[in-house]
Amino acid sequence: MTKSTASAPSVTPPALLREVDVPAWDHDTDVLVIGFGSAGASAALGAREAGARVLVLERASGPGGSSAIAGGHFYLGGGTPVQTACGFEDSAEEMYKYLEALTPDPEPEKLRLYCDGSVAHFHWLEAQGVPFDRSYYPGKAAIQPGRDCLIWSGNEKVWPYRDIAIPAPRGHKVAFDGPDGGGALAMQHLSSAVGQSDAQQLFDVQVCNLIADATGGICGVRFRQDGQLRHARARGGVVLSAGGYIMNTQMFDHELAWMPRDLIKHGVPNDDGAGVLMGVSAGGAAIGLHQAFLTSPVYPPESMIKGVMVNALGQRFVAEDSYHGRAAGFIVEQPQGITYLILDSATFGYPPYDFFEQKLVDGYETVESMEAGLGLPQGSLAKTLADYNSAAAQGEDPAFNKYAEWLQPLDQPPYAAFDLSVGHAKFAGFSLGGLSTSADAQVRRADGSVLAGLYAAGACAWNIAQDARGYSSGTCLGEATFFGRRAGLHAGARIRD
Ligand SMILES: Cc1cc2nc3c(=O)[nH]c(=O)nc-3n(C[C@H](O)[C@H](O)[C@H](O)COP(=O)(O)OP(=O)(O)OC[C@H]3O[C@@H](n4cnc5c(N)ncnc54)[C@H](O)[C@@H]3O)c2cc1C
Repeated sequence: MTKSTASAPSVTPPALLREVDVPAWDHDTDVLVIGFGSAGASAALGAREAGARVLVLERASGPGGSSAIAGGHFYLGGGTPVQTACGFEDSAEEMYKYLEALTPDPEPEKLRLYCDGSVAHFHWLEAQGVPFDRSYYPGKAAIQPGRDCLIWSGNEKVWPYRDIAIPAPRGHKVAFDGPDGGGALAMQHLSSAVGQSDAQQLFDVQVCNLIADATGGICGVRFRQDGQLRHARARGGVVLSAGGYIMNTQMFDHELAWMPRDLIKHGVPNDDGAGVLMGVSAGGAAIGLHQAFLTSPVYPPESMIKGVMVNALGQRFVAEDSYHGRAAGFIVEQPQGITYLILDSATFGYPPYDFFEQKLVDGYETVESMEAGLGLPQGSLAKTLADYNSAAAQGEDPAFNKYAEWLQPLDQPPYAAFDLSVGHAKFAGFSLGGLSTSADAQVRRADGSVLAGLYAAGACAWNIAQDARGYSSGTCLGEATFFGRRAGLHAGARIRD
């Protein structure tokens, strides 16, 4: 059970309808799946595996959701065939220790299931047609440029996590030949597997309300189709897999008020929180609605990691080899959101993505002129660099324990500063809060009891991906497909039972 407390969303949830008020059922099925992204596809496949009839209701004109615009990392480990083929040892236990240490509110049962089931889940994804090469990308990158599969996609080698769990790369990218498109390829295969499974699918339908039976259990939904209100009955359960809420303006302004206001909102227009809000209407607890993934990556080139990030006080605040989401999570908390990346001529490079607008402030012949040029307190940057350089020369970083591989004295003028500050550079992000769920993806009330007939998975549920600082690339698609499938299996089994 989660330790985090539930909070009421700032948006009023839709009404919970009663079965007695339904004029007639337009559809009758076993498992209703709301939303056809990766969580919905996996729920549909899980329910078909359980032998249940399935109806998927999708608001857009086709499957995909934000899953189809994702980079295509799945966070998997414990000795997957790719890890083994590439010569990396890993175990479910080390994966568990790592995720537990980085997750603000780890739920041991769910985390254990996810780690213990990770290799089997990899095989399941491949069985649905999702392709993964047996190859490794050794570079530091937000996403591999080509189709190489395995990458260090989190903070595994970052202190203190490298001391807590034996590091292993666990980011598995779908075999797509380019930086963007892995998520689309995964969705192409998952949706075609759903098609072959004989699950029914309806597109251009917007689910707007849940319907409860006389016992309070969820037994169906109301949706809009061609301007008409329709009703679909679910005998086993309703799976909410309708995505996150980054596009809900009110929730962005209230729950996510800490995020940069000029955020590049990562998602699709339908990420309006409908899944979370419907779950709350039925009595489900919403957890961590203020949490989000955030990023503004400065690498590749890898040499940028050898620079230091300083705030308005000229002080470092994070190990610069942290995963880009973790670094961004620290940047937004600095005084006035001010951060500069300091490089020397030996480490100089340009950040990889123009749209993050991390501008070069200037080049400087001396540390003193850079300090004055950036408006930092006198002597602050000089001290930060003197301390960093003397320790780096010994292969050490007592302040932040940056990995030895990235330690190099910054003493080759001219120097350069890039502006990573909030309001100057751009950040991208998506919501991470969602409905409290059991290990079988059943929606829970605030007291921990489960709501009969209601499930949630993916971006509308609260699972493993919980905040920017602890995020590892691939946890969203990993948990969406893992717990989505479990939701479908459990809801489908209710029919049999
Ligand atoms: C640019 C980008 C890159 C990313 N890269 C990665 C990555 O590499 N790895 C990773 O793990 N995560 C990544 N993520 C995050 C990840 O994509 C999402 O967390 C994940 O795809 C969520 O899956 P989902 O199935 O829950 O939601 P979605 O894929 O968004 O699917 C939800 C579906 O529900 C539908 N819907 C919404 N409301 C309704 C309604 N009322 N009625 C019916 N249907 C409705 C939507 O139209 C949508 O199709 C990335 C996200 C973005 C935006």
